[in-house]
Amino acid sequence: MIAAPKNATRQSFRGCLLGGAIGDALGAPVEFMSRARIRERYGEQGIERFDLAYGREGAITDDTQMTMFTAEGLLQAMSRRRSGIDEAPEVVVHRAYLRWLRTQHFTGALASSGSETSGWLIHVPALHASRAPGTTCLTALSSGLIGKPGQPFNHSKGCGGVMRIAPCALVKEWDPYELGCKVAAITHGHHSGYLAAGALAVIIRTVLEGHGVAKGVSAALVRLVPEPGGAECIEALRKVTGLWKEDGADADVEQLGQGWVAEEALAIGVYAAMVGEAELRKGLTTAVNHSGDSDSTGAIAGNILGAIHGEEALSRVALGDVELRDEVIRLADDLVDAWTDQPGWVERYCEI
Ligand SMILES: [Mg+2]
Repeated sequence: MIAAPKNATRQSFRGCLLGGAIGDALGAPVEFMSRARIRERYGEQGIERFDLAYGREGAITDDTQMTMFTAEGLLQAMSRRRSGIDEAPEVVVHRAYLRWLRTQHFTGALASSGSETSGWLIHVPALHASRAPGTTCLTALSSGLIGKPGQPFNHSKGCGGVMRIAPCALVKEWDPYELGCKVAAITHGHHSGYLAAGALAVIIRTVLEGHGVAKGVSAALVRLVPEPGGAECIEALRKVTGLWKEDGADADVEQLGQGWVAEEALAIGVYAAMVGEAELRKGLTTAVNHSGDSDSTGAIAGNILGAIHGEEALSRVALGDVELRDEVIRLADDLVDAWTDQPGWVERYCEI
């Protein structure tokens, strides 16, 4: 067992998952807007608090939905381990994703997988809302196949792998980098599609250990450098470091791309997290006010920033009420209880 990072606390675990949901919800109204359109609508500073998306303020999107199912799958995998069943965690997470697929009214090749009603998330009515789910995730999960690093069945490097990966940093049973890569590779076959996810898991784990984002980037690069196919993610993270050195907190994030692909989403999220280390609100708004995939880059930055600053600091930023807050906190608390070997959570995650 790995020793608990000094900051593996209820505050930081809640912060990590809630921060992702908050960044997602802040970006949701502007996901499909150019920056010019965002400024026209919200003023020069862009969007600064929750606004209407999907018929309500603070609506989360598929990024948070899938992050929640990642957490549920990992908790189920840990629950199985404690009862002596050592199944690969990504296989258990895949089953959780099939339940997410059902919430989106898809069943694909696996209409009856035996565990499709296990877990509690599928019984949360609000999770059955359709929030612009990514085509790659829908298609890959509908296929009935499970992608693996190095054994892809598609070549997608959309950001749908990296945006859902934060819980992989919040479990001590498995190496966060390897777990992040495997969980993203379930649906995303391009190297960058899953390596970006491994890198994000390392960065989150590093900040939970009490280090800064820059140290997290260095730790991620150590893992990426020997990887075949790691060049795009390496270049994207080096660009972030260069931009930060050159322009500090005021760089134009669009120099890092738009975030529709994984390495760009990682880069924008990480840069915004660097901004947000000193100024949480500015980090969150930097993450979403650009022409690209604002909810995913918001979610990534929010995961890192929430892990650094914790739940209370997120509340003080007061962007508004985020949808499914209680359910996100339930998952974070169960993850921290699993990490610290507290009782009570295991029964909630026994697969039927
Ligand atoms: Mg989304």
